[in-house]
Amino acid sequence: MENCIFCKILNKEIPSKFVYEDDICFAINDINPKAKKHILVIPKVHVESLNEVNDFELIKKMFEAVKKINKQENITHFKTLINTGAKAGQEVMHLHIHILSD
Ligand code: AMP
Ligand code: ZN
Repeated sequence: MENCIFCKILNKEIPSKFVYEDDICFAINDINPKAKKHILVIPKVHVESLNEVNDFELIKKMFEAVKKINKQENITHFKTLINTGAKAGQEVMHLHIHILSD
């Protein structure tokens, strides 16, 4: 999707270090962290938000990735967050799960 920050990161048009990658999704450190550890888990397919998800296999795969990332990063306690819609604070209109930990 044109003009989507996360699609541009996936396509290497914007440089960013992937902390995790598999067939379905990738993860990066949040550029403006709201916790000591703040990771974003992002599907490779452009889906605007949870409201546009029809096949929940995608969400399952994303949460499997959350667990793998947490193991890799030694994160044992954490919050996950999905903002849906601008009025709820969604800034980037490409679905993502926040992982927040101290
Ligand atoms: P949300 O408000 O749920 O849409 O979250 C979007 C998140 O993306 C925010 O926490 C931003 O700090 C983060 N963000 C925006 N641009 C970048 C970027 N280039 N690299 C990493 N994180 C970003
Ligand atoms: Zn996108």
